Amino acid sequence: MELKRLNEHIWYMPSEEERDRPNLCYVKGSRLGLAVDAGHSAAHVQEFYALLEKESLPLPDITVLTHWHWDHTFGMHAVHGLTLANERTDRYLAEWKEKIEKNGPGEFLAIHESIRREYPAGTEVTVRTADMVFSGEMTLDLGGCTVKVLQAEAPHTDDSTLVYAENDRVLFVGDSTCHDFFTGIKRADLCAKMADTIRKINPAVIMEGHWVPVPMEDTLEDLMTNLSE
Ligand SMILES: [Zn+2]
Repeated sequence: MELKRLNEHIWYMPSEEERDRPNLCYVKGSRLGLAVDAGHSAAHVQEFYALLEKESLPLPDITVLTHWHWDHTFGMHAVHGLTLANERTDRYLAEWKEKIEKNGPGEFLAIHESIRREYPAGTEVTVRTADMVFSGEMTLDLGGCTVKVLQAEAPHTDDSTLVYAENDRVLFVGDSTCHDFFTGIKRADLCAKMADTIRKINPAVIMEGHWVPVPMEDTLEDLMTNLSE
């Protein structure tokens, strides 16, 4: 696995299907480094950090979560610096933290085979809540590089955060443009709202959680096809 460079401020470690690992992205300003998503496990985070170190990039100061799903968040306990999530994402994480601490990881491991590949028998599952919680929208100045984080209505979950690197016009959307993982439903009204939000932001490139970077139009086209109703 190697780190790919997207443009002046942005690098990413590509996603992997086998263990359902999303892209882990890195935005570097002159003062602060920001990661988009914390990854599936401590092992996932460590692989990402080893690649950053190889490129002499500082470890992230802030890690923003795109939504609560385990493959994007359960590495949080191993990240460097502070984590940032919207209040809904943080609430879901608190629920899973309590459940796993009380009952063990059985229910979590039963969700999907890819999870059991990421967590071979005996591996500990640790869930953390975020260090910083926001609602609505906020702007982060990384030093010559501005990043906006904003909550958005989307078909995948009801806790989506979009991350926009303004100078580079790259929008990180996590899985928010996909169907609901648990129901398989892709609600047309939510897709339309999401498409509207994306058009208003008007990014040049969109980075989805489990896909390669693409022009905005590609994402919009995918978003509005195979709708449930
Ligand atoms: Zn997801």
